[in-house]
Amino acid sequence: MVDSRTVCPGDESRTGLVQPAAMRRIVWGLAPIVLLTACPSTPPPPRPSPQAAPPKADLVLSGGIVHTQDPQQPAATAVAIRAGRIVAVGSDAQVTPWVGAETRHIDLAGRVALPGLVDAHMHLTGLGKRALSIDLVGTKTLAEVKAKVRSAAARAPAGQWIVGRGWDQNDWSDHRGFPKAKSLDEVAPDHPVALTRVDGHALWVNTAAMMRARITKKTRPKSGGRIVSRHGMPTGIFIDNAMQLIRQHIPALSAKQVRQAILHGQTQCLQAGLTGVHDMGVGPEELSALKALDAEGQLKLRVYAAHDGTAPDLSPALAAGPIIPTAASEGRLTVRAVKFFADGALGSRGAALLEPYHDDPTNSGLLLMEPAVLEARVRTATQRGFQVATHAIGDRANMVTLDIYKRVFANSAWKHRPRVEHAQVLSQLDLQRFRAEGVIASMQPTHATSDMPWAEARVGPERIQGAYAWQSLLTSNATIAAGSDAPVEAISPILGLYAAITRSDAEGQPAGGWYVSEAMRPEQALAAFTTGAAWAGFSEAELGRLKEGYLADITVLSEDPMKASPGELIGAKVMLTIVQGELAYVRPGADAPPATRTATVTATATTP
Ligand SMILES: [Zn+2]
Repeated sequence: MVDSRTVCPGDESRTGLVQPAAMRRIVWGLAPIVLLTACPSTPPPPRPSPQAAPPKADLVLSGGIVHTQDPQQPAATAVAIRAGRIVAVGSDAQVTPWVGAETRHIDLAGRVALPGLVDAHMHLTGLGKRALSIDLVGTKTLAEVKAKVRSAAARAPAGQWIVGRGWDQNDWSDHRGFPKAKSLDEVAPDHPVALTRVDGHALWVNTAAMMRARITKKTRPKSGGRIVSRHGMPTGIFIDNAMQLIRQHIPALSAKQVRQAILHGQTQCLQAGLTGVHDMGVGPEELSALKALDAEGQLKLRVYAAHDGTAPDLSPALAAGPIIPTAASEGRLTVRAVKFFADGALGSRGAALLEPYHDDPTNSGLLLMEPAVLEARVRTATQRGFQVATHAIGDRANMVTLDIYKRVFANSAWKHRPRVEHAQVLSQLDLQRFRAEGVIASMQPTHATSDMPWAEARVGPERIQGAYAWQSLLTSNATIAAGSDAPVEAISPILGLYAAITRSDAEGQPAGGWYVSEAMRPEQALAAFTTGAAWAGFSEAELGRLKEGYLADITVLSEDPMKASPGELIGAKVMLTIVQGELAYVRPGADAPPATRTATVTATATTP
């Protein structure tokens, strides 16, 4: 610890300093700040003249395990931060000179500091929107669901939609089978209510919602959908494509709600230990809310946003060119990419495959866009200075996307850094192309462990060898940028690191991991969430490592992902999330100060 070096034996009563042993007990408390006073038993430090005093750090972390991701100096115990940037990384002794009277000093007490973890593919508004709707995951009775709807209705003006998600009638002890509209009418007769089942494949609504949607006994769903009915009358359950009959009547979020959702999403990210996210596919409303929040200094999280490339006309979005914060602006928002879709998802057999589905020989999935149209859009976005990021799940979609990139970028891919989002099922030939053709694989480790119960049924025993094939890509020296795709998966990067390293679910199944030869080694997993994400966001010169001159984005965990057992890793706690030197999240219960942008002094030694 920095402090113990500056406290002389027997000095405590004289200086009023807390003893090192006592400081260790207040693990997350501010270690008292000490002035560098000379001890009789040690040679006095040189006395700097006041004019020549070197600058001191705003924040010092010491006494920890610091994984820097800097090959020149991979391990350290302390970091000093000034004006949002790292000014020193090294041993506690090396960082000590940066501690001054105004320095906030945190004793890590053996905790683990990592370069700030970044989620390279998620949806910030979608994540936060969950907080604006009723969360029904884990409800054990129909009565419990009704109580939640009743209290939501009590807070919302009559006529306003109430939405929620996560119910599962199989878990209820007081009801059998699908629920009915009547149960919701009893608790929210004056609000349209729409509650999505836990798997996203059924929507449960009340009578007010069906009236809004003008559902009658004559309403027929599109193919691939079903309206559950009894004696010809809809009961309130809409399945798959029939859900759209209701959903098209639920209004989009208001500007205020979008803003609220982003702030809720930000809170969840910071709590999860993320210092940055790549928000993949934002519309104009989200973008203007993000810009406003950044201008107001309310954006604490670093957000790298991609325009939604599915908009019918991209020109308004692209006309203004990218937004890239400058060192002076302190901005946290970058808008520099466009997100496209090549195909759908594997679970619903919408992913475009080269050969038919193993479990549906008549179906090979679908490309969502004509390759020529996608190529034209990729060219336009690139010409306007944007990075392109294309969702591709099936091996056909991946091949088509790589082919387009090859034609558009030729030998300039390293400059433009095109990305494939998900890169989920790859043919053996295409696995080698990512590195060779300068394409970033933006992958989500938890997708593998969520999909593993059924993925092989979809693609069969051969193609599964190229699915979620992280180690094959890394062995070819491709760059993987890791993410979660939240809210599709949980936002926690700890779960992402765990899935990447173990290829097991949260219960440790299957023991030993699913196709474990494709698992990442711990250092590869950490790189995917740090340096890989930084490369994908053009910020490798100032993010992704803990290094002098880099932005001070740091995640502090209770456990060391380089060494932890799977059980320890999944139980790891986020202790601190530091963005640009600011304590953006401090674990509750930890005796630490509230987050502020500037450092404060808690204690200074006085000379007797
Ligand atoms: Zn996504």
